[in-house]
Amino acid sequence: MRNKFAKRASLVKSSETREILKVTERPEMISFAGGLPAPELFPVEELNVACEAVLKVDGPASLQYSTTEGYIPLRNAIIKRMDAIGIQAHLQQILITSGSQQAIDLTGRLFLDEGDTIICESPTYLAAVNAFKVYNANFVEVEMDEDGMMMEALEKQLQENPQAKFIYTIPDFHNPTGRTLKLERRKRMIELASQYDVLIVEDNPYGAVRFSGTALPPIKHFDTEGRVIYLSTFSKIFTPGLRLGWICADEVFIEKYVAFKQTADLHSDSFAQRITAKYMELYDIEAHIEKIKAVYKERCTTMLTCIDQFFPKNISYSKPDGGLFIWVELPASVDSSKIFVECLKNNVAIVPGIPFFPNGTQKNTLRLNYSNTTKEQIREGIKRMGEVLHHELKK
Ligand code: PMP
Repeated sequence: MRNKFAKRASLVKSSETREILKVTERPEMISFAGGLPAPELFPVEELNVACEAVLKVDGPASLQYSTTEGYIPLRNAIIKRMDAIGIQAHLQQILITSGSQQAIDLTGRLFLDEGDTIICESPTYLAAVNAFKVYNANFVEVEMDEDGMMMEALEKQLQENPQAKFIYTIPDFHNPTGRTLKLERRKRMIELASQYDVLIVEDNPYGAVRFSGTALPPIKHFDTEGRVIYLSTFSKIFTPGLRLGWICADEVFIEKYVAFKQTADLHSDSFAQRITAKYMELYDIEAHIEKIKAVYKERCTTMLTCIDQFFPKNISYSKPDGGLFIWVELPASVDSSKIFVECLKNNVAIVPGIPFFPNGTQKNTLRLNYSNTTKEQIREGIKRMGEVLHHELKK
């Protein structure tokens, strides 16, 4: 048979992280590779109660087709939570999506023509890169430091790429680096976006998972022109399996997103939406998030302490105040895919940094996840990694 695939089929490979995750399913493996929330924290009992209540009260409606925009009580609950972090939105500005991953994909469909330019952090979220690659986008990477994307570098890129469509940014506990964009830079980013007339896609799945320091307002908080498209999700504060995220944006954008979502899946799972809304009606989700933060704080602190103890001293790493990830920078000559292979031999899984750079630079980095391993596993895994690193860095 002749090749029947569309040209775009060759633009995206299956995510390397997903391939790595397959290996991590082996029981003997200590995995710092994925970005999985701790499953023991999922509110299973409470969801059982919420589920029963939904079926009892709205059984048929909860199993019927429903509106694309999403279940109104859920959208209202989202509006209330967003108000608490400084985003004022009304119902027509919220669209429920099937995870924020769908919001990213719809963003690509809606805004990207072939060859369009996206400005993003260097590195950035791998699955967003792949989603945007489908539309044959170009990526302009902007350097980061410990305080997130650097604004001088952003301005330079905006000058050099005046046709850029949007800045894609993960300001809080960035994936993969765990870094957070500092306050002045948030304000500056809005100014620059306005000056150079680009949109900002603020992808914020981790902002609510802050376990140290003071919360910062989202970039959307400073948006007076409807320039920021804000994406978030229940995946890290509730459960990823229900696949519920949302877009908060100006109505003109939401109307288009709705039309595009209709072509993708008509609407997100109505049963999941009702269960989530019911959970929030019956229980205190904020108290639940506090529990998640306490566990992640402990795991993150354990990992940082062990890195300090077991890794060679010429390695630098981020010290996140929230989220799920630590970013490790090895000496420039070290290829982290080699470290990845050696770690696997020792039953430790990590993700080499290279796929997080859309243009494929920087081989000497790697990402560690701490949310889905116990303190004991973290200690043992980082100790084994330390041995690998001492050995490889001596070569
Ligand atoms: N954006 C970022 C930065 C992420 O890290 C993730 C999850 N790993 C997502 C979006 C997608 O999350 P979900 O589809 O589960 O809401």
